[in-house]
Formats: sequence, C-alpha cells, structure tokens
Amino acid sequence: MAIPTTLRLEFVTPERSIVHDEVDELQLPGEEGFLGVLPGHTPLLVALKVGEMWYRKGTETFHGFVGFGFAEILPSSVTILARIAEKADDIDLERAEAAKRRAEDLLAEAAKGSVDMDFERARLALLRAITRLQVSQHARMRR
Ligand code: ATP
Repeated sequence: MAIPTTLRLEFVTPERSIVHDEVDELQLPGEEGFLGVLPGHTPLLVALKVGEMWYRKGTETFHGFVGFGFAEILPSSVTILARIAEKADDIDLERAEAAKRRAEDLLAEAAKGSVDMDFERARLALLRAITRLQVSQHARMRR
C-alpha cells in the first residue's frame, strides 16, 4: 500500500471543531513528551497534557492550545479530542494575562499560608494561562 503524503487533521473539543484540514505534519503535547507526526505514522493512541500543538500546511505553520485530551494517530489521519482547546488566533491575551495574575496571586497567598485553597487547581490555572500566552507569542513570531 502506498504511504500517504498528507494527514487529515480533525481537532475537536466537546463543544466545537477547532481544525478540520489536510496537513503535512504536526506536533502534539503528549503526556510523555512532545510527539511529531508525519504521514505514514504507526497507529497510536496518546494522552495529551496542557501544552502547545502546531501543524504545518505547505510553508505555513499554525499553532494551538490543548488542555488535556487524547489523540488517535493513524497513517493518514490524526484525531485530537481535547477537553479544552483554542487556535492561537482565538486566544484572548488580556483574559490569559488576567488568569495568570489571579493564579499567581493565589499561589503567593498560599505560600504565605494565609489562605486555605486548592493548590493544584491554582497551579493548573497558571499553567493554562502561561501556555496560552506562549502559543499566542509563537504564532505571532511566525508571521
Ligand atoms: P479563565 O479563568 O479566564 O476562565 P481558564 O484557564 O480557567 O481561564 P478554561 O477552564 O481553560 O479557562 O476554559 C474555559 C473556556 O474558556 C474554554 O472554552 C476555553 O477555550 C475558553 N478560554 C479560556 N481562556 C481563554 C482565553 N484566554 N482565550 C480564549 N478562550 C479562552
């Protein structure tokens, strides 16, 4: 059987479709580390962490935010089922900056022992905010 030359990318959350396109390669934030995928990849199911994904179509590269989920990789397609996701262009920077400040303030208060809070929840909120800011910055650097 001929090796496929492109990948059909379906990138969805429970609420909406993020990307539906034919792409040349992509990278995913796997729980075990970043995973690069080219057409013809061995079938694989990967758990995704909070992180940045990107895909290339011709000479253009597009970035996106992934907040946990799974990806099914097949030789000619990749399906990403993310719990939360946004394309770089859809990231609201002011909102991410505000979320980052809120999480930092909470963690600072927790470090002083002055509040009773869910430390892990604040840590994850900070991670999401910082990752969104990075995704947006990387996308702007590519232009
Ligand atoms: P916030 O405190 O600003 O709500 P959060 O990290 O708690 O941030 P999430 O729980 O990750 O938000 O996401 C909730 C919904 O809001 C999702 O649909 C997600 O796509 C969207 N969302 C969150 N932050 C942003 C952002 N900065 N830009 C665009 N969409 C966002």
